[in-house]
Formats: sequence, structure tokens, C-alpha cells
Amino acid sequence: MEKLINPVVTAGILKKYNFHFQKKYGQNFLIDSHVLDKIIGSAGITKDDLVLEIGPGIGTMTQFLCEAAGKVLAVEIDDRLIPVLAETLAEYDNVTVINNDILKMDFNEIANKYNDGKPVKVVANLPYYITTPIVMGLFESGAPLESITIMIQKEVADRMRAEPGGKDYGALSLAVQYYSQPEIVAVVPPNCFMPRPGVSSEVIKLTYLHEKPIKVNDEKYMFDVIRAAFNQRRKTLVNALGNAAKLSVSKDTVKEALSKMGLDERIRGEALSLEQFAIISDLLKK
Ligand code: SAM
Repeated sequence: MEKLINPVVTAGILKKYNFHFQKKYGQNFLIDSHVLDKIIGSAGITKDDLVLEIGPGIGTMTQFLCEAAGKVLAVEIDDRLIPVLAETLAEYDNVTVINNDILKMDFNEIANKYNDGKPVKVVANLPYYITTPIVMGLFESGAPLESITIMIQKEVADRMRAEPGGKDYGALSLAVQYYSQPEIVAVVPPNCFMPRPGVSSEVIKLTYLHEKPIKVNDEKYMFDVIRAAFNQRRKTLVNALGNAAKLSVSKDTVKEALSKMGLDERIRGEALSLEQFAIISDLLKK
């Protein structure tokens, strides 16, 4: 069978199964072979790898992943796609398709059950409405990860790579840059998909950092501080942290910590670097 990346083949399969796209699942299927080559190439997949693909759709990328990887685990929420995948992936014996919501799955269990606890490579053309929970869920699970190579909305890719000070900088930027080294691999216009999405997309590779870029005593507490800082991002850090029930610190304690760091007490969270968030978390936790 000719591959699905050929738009004529994709259109034929969609017609055969009378498939109607579900907007709520972010269904935009890839039909551009250059983009596919970029994703597969930059993910650096070998026959030693288990690849977790989130949202295989009709299996366009999955066909290529099966050829490059040792094993592929593809998790698809839409049960109408399961019989389609049975046909389009019939010639591969190294793929397991699971009909489930990825947000309900345990990444540690996936790595243990399908890869003997060894680091997993995640590759996906993500449903854009759940990009942040998926990426945060993967990082915060502590599951063994090698890299996450994903197609996402351009605005979200900008937020992931943002530096302190700008409007894009926030909790997602800090988490991505704490856990990984982000790198843009491709810029993808809407005409590379069927149907065309209303937004521009980018492929970003997040290479997991086994050695973190900064040291912090309590990682979880630091992310509580970061979230509190950006929940009320127009407020000063003193007000945002002092008002956050979860942290139980007084405004005076925050002022004292800022003064020890040589920072103005009117500073906002958006001005602090990852390293400064680590320092203030350690001071507040004392
Ligand atoms: N990988 C295919 C491709 O590149 O052509 C399809 C990508 S499409 C942007 C996103 C896919 O994710 C759809 O097939 C959709 O049904 C699936 N999906 C959406 N939400 C999901 C979830 N919570 N868990 C697993 N799959 C999901």
C-alpha cells in the first residue's frame, strides 16, 4: 500500500471509512513529506528505541516511526480511528495501538511495561488544545525520557523558548527550560495539513536534561512558587506570593528574600530568571 503521507492516499482512506474530522480532538492530519522527514530525522530514532506516539490519527507518521524505531506505542483517543489504524499499520509487527486518552495514562508505567524502564522518545503531531498538560505531565511524571519531538502551535513554541521580561515568558517557559533543551526543528504552514488549521505550527525538539541547568532544594516547591508568580502576573512578586494560599509565606518574608537577593521589592515574577526562582524558593522554604 502506498504511504498515507501522499494526500491522495489519505483522502482515499478518509472516504473509505467515511471519516469526519472532530475539532474537539484537534484532528489535522499531516500530508507533507518534507515535514515528516524533518520530524523523524531530528528525533534521531534508531532500532534501539521505543517511541511513544501521542495521537497517531490514521497512522501517517506512525508508518514512518515503525520503519525507524524498534517499537512504537501509539495512543489514540478516537475509537473511530482504531479500525483505520488496523488497516494502515497492518504490515508492521512492531507497533501497539492503545485506544485511550493520553492524559489518563501513567508515563512511568508505559516506560516500565513497554521499554523495561529505559528512556522513551516521544514523537507527536499534538492535539493543540492539550499541548501544555501533555508536556507538563511528561516532565513532572519523572518518567525516563530521552526527548520529546512535537508539532505544536507556533505561539506555544514561542512561550516554551521565551526569555525573562517578555509577554511570552511564564510557567511553561521555566518548566521546559528546567527539564530540557528546546530547539526549533521546522516551521510548518497550515497547508501541510488536512484540514488546514487556523494557526501556524512549529516542530520543537525538547532534549531531556539528565543534569538540570540549576540546583534547587525542592523542585516541586519551586514550581509552586513559579505558578503563584504567574497566576497573577501583573502583580508584584511580593503580592502574588504573599497572597498564594499554597505557599503560606507572608509578604514580609518575600520582601526579606528579595532584599537578600539584591532585588527591588516592586519586581514582578516575569523579570526573574530560572536561577533566581530557584534562589527565592530556597530562601522562602527555609
Ligand atoms: N499523528 C497524526 C498526523 O500527524 O497526521 C494525527 C495528528 S492530529 C493533530 C492529533 C491526533 O491526536 C488526532 O488523531 C486526535 O484524535 C488525537 N488525540 C486528541 N486528543 C487526544 C488524547 N487526549 N489522547 C490521545 N490522542 C488524542
